[in-house]
Amino acid sequence: MKFGTKAVHAGVEPDAGTGAIMTPIFQTSTYVQAAPGDHKGYEYARTHNPTRSALQQSLAVLEGGTEGLVYASGMAAVDAILKLLRPGDEVISTNDLYGGTYRIFTKIFEPFGIKFRFIGMQDVALLEDAISDCTKLIWIETPTNPLMNIIDIEAVTLIARKHNILTVVDNTFSTPYLQTPLALGADIVLHSLTKYINGHSDVVMGALIVKDTALGERLRFIQNASGAIPGPQDCFLTLRGIKTLHLRMKQHCENGRKVAEFLKAHPKVKKVNWPGFPEHPNHEVAARQMNDFGGMISFTLHGDKMEDALKVLSGTHLFALAESLGGVESLIGHPASMTHASIPKAEREKVGLEDTLIRLSVGIEDAEDLIEDLAAALG
Ligand SMILES: *Cc1c(COP(=O)(O)O)cnc(C)c1O
Repeated sequence: MKFGTKAVHAGVEPDAGTGAIMTPIFQTSTYVQAAPGDHKGYEYARTHNPTRSALQQSLAVLEGGTEGLVYASGMAAVDAILKLLRPGDEVISTNDLYGGTYRIFTKIFEPFGIKFRFIGMQDVALLEDAISDCTKLIWIETPTNPLMNIIDIEAVTLIARKHNILTVVDNTFSTPYLQTPLALGADIVLHSLTKYINGHSDVVMGALIVKDTALGERLRFIQNASGAIPGPQDCFLTLRGIKTLHLRMKQHCENGRKVAEFLKAHPKVKKVNWPGFPEHPNHEVAARQMNDFGGMISFTLHGDKMEDALKVLSGTHLFALAESLGGVESLIGHPASMTHASIPKAEREKVGLEDTLIRLSVGIEDAEDLIEDLAAALG
């Protein structure tokens, strides 16, 4: 079955009781048992909920996994993975990571005795050197946020497997429409469903997808024990969002290309970070592991004045100034003062996260209108 068909149908069966074509919102906390222990597979809604099960099944199919788990937010999904670890364990990650992930690593889990190392993983040779006997997880995002660096997923998982280390891929920016990390050897795929997968900027939710049953069971135990589950109404909305994922992603990619090309030709723009350009340092890897290049773009302006960037940010009308990404509407943001403000300035500058850097999440509006909006703001 092809991707679009899976997006519409996976996980969803007509309701057995009524024939309702959409999975109902099972707004219930518990389920009646005929006799103690005699139930229909559902006992208590922290553990199971049919609306949630349908969404989890849909995600597992789209990512090519055996099991999906959904969480109250992307960060709750991050939290669940880290609870697989013990004091003394080490995690190796990338140095331009999502700010919230960096924060939970360093501010919540480091005090519990877990160690984190951050390296530039575009060059996988650095990874081999960073691994120690204590390394238990390698954690990557690709494309990275907000510099749109590309990491070779297959090259990373080959090294990880050699050392018996699990690989986590945060696939939020790509979605399974663009890349499926489990097929490239990853062990856990992480999503902030808040972004492209729900796609309508009306839900906060996260997910993990795995292909190993024992790992899935362990994560399910952690989820049930810790309790970071989403409500059934939000599961319903995300399940509805998924039905158009392929159509939205196609448009995000098409608009992304047009906007990236417009920016590249603009005299005030110094550099455009978008993996679809042949001169992008890892374009070749992106072309190999992704089906297209997405609608996330970042760019810098000539000079180094933060005020110039702030003027552009407050000069757009269609591009809304907001955190988040991946919704149908276009967003503009300033990583240094918004999403990445929790990373110290010195750390930001080390990885090239300049003060004039502007990030775009290109939506599914008409590209001509988006370009006109940016042209006016840059002018
Ligand atoms: C937003 C985001 C997260 C966190 O997800 P929430 O749903 O906001 O908790 C994690 N990783 C990436 C790449 C993100 O963009």
